[in-house]
Amino acid sequence: MILRTYIECPACQEPIVLRVGVTRARQPFTVACPSCESAIRGETVEADDGLPRFHLPEIRVIDPKDVSGEWRIVTTYGDLPNFPNSGEYSAFLSAHNIFGDENFPGFLNFLATARWLGDKVDPLEHAYGFYLKQKWDLLDRLMWKNFEGAWPENPSFLDRHTAMHRFIFPYLVSLDPEGLYPQAKYEVWSRIFKKEAAFSECAYSVIANPEFEAMNRRVAEQFFNLLRANAEWLPALAIIHLRAKGRPVPSGWQVPVGRIDSLRDAYRQNFEVSCQILPLIIRMQNISEGRDPESIRDPADLNGWAPRILRVQDCVNNANQYTKSKAATKEAYLNRHPYLRYYWNSSFSRDVRNSIAHAEFDYVMHGGVIAYKGREVPYYVFIEALIRQITLLAFWLDLCKLYKIYGSRWDPQNRVFLGLS
Ligand SMILES: [Zn+2]
Repeated sequence: MILRTYIECPACQEPIVLRVGVTRARQPFTVACPSCESAIRGETVEADDGLPRFHLPEIRVIDPKDVSGEWRIVTTYGDLPNFPNSGEYSAFLSAHNIFGDENFPGFLNFLATARWLGDKVDPLEHAYGFYLKQKWDLLDRLMWKNFEGAWPENPSFLDRHTAMHRFIFPYLVSLDPEGLYPQAKYEVWSRIFKKEAAFSECAYSVIANPEFEAMNRRVAEQFFNLLRANAEWLPALAIIHLRAKGRPVPSGWQVPVGRIDSLRDAYRQNFEVSCQILPLIIRMQNISEGRDPESIRDPADLNGWAPRILRVQDCVNNANQYTKSKAATKEAYLNRHPYLRYYWNSSFSRDVRNSIAHAEFDYVMHGGVIAYKGREVPYYVFIEALIRQITLLAFWLDLCKLYKIYGSRWDPQNRVFLGLS
């Protein structure tokens, strides 16, 4: 529903008609004053009668009768982009027009699914904590309580490792209409199809290292935090779905701005934890090419693995050197994973993350653009990447799961792979 009120801009005192499309119980918003371009912040909250109300502690609400001059109208909408200074037109109707009759209902389903996943994040995060600590009784009880029917009656070893992932991942389809996740998954997983025993032995030693669990936990924390903060990025989902349909993004269509500071931190942290995960990919590639999992290239081995793009002094010889190498080197070794490389590149832009690291990343409120390295792009480009990062984090969780499953099925005494069932 659309809530409207009459306010005075706290910066320039010009009268404004403020319209907010409300989609959730508590909805913070930021709009730009149409006259002076200052940021105006407030939120809508659900009152005792269940209906939404404005909560505008820093803003003077005015009576329209007391205003003689011209009103400017500003509109924002919780979960959809909008044309902020377009007057009374509805964000919902413009989105409908832009998607068209054939695509809009499907998109709304995806939107509802993504919002649902955000609402379920607390029990899922607790359950994941039990999974990491292998507190199986607590995990079972929590999942039965919150997701009745979706959790097996007598979960097996494999159920407990896979059921929660199976449970979360179908919902991620709503965030990944291009199917980057399943394509990259097939590419990476297929590396070990014919080398299960070698992978099991490698995974056994990898998961025994405490750093593995710490890394797994870091990824999970980022993933669940971003799901919880879905109000910050959900409006850009429309852009991702529009692009997946091959439709242009209309100029002037803006995504309501989230908390730039925390999203910027999330971007940087997502990148760092993703870099920490990459050695897991490299070990699988080594195994598939018949090398020792830790060895990338013996200096005497002319057929060893050295991406052409790298200078000789930047090439690495083993997984340990790889782990300590700089980001550009790590990325170069994705050269044998074209899908994952594409997924990576569409999740992380080197310019954006360098600008964030050097505090050269700016958001321009009135224009709805971000500026970095002398470039200006629409704000939604940044949020689109962040949504891809969410599914990429889920992909890493899936990869950690694969290591844990195979690592638990290696018998170190007899040096045999025990099989998965
Ligand atoms: Zn103003």
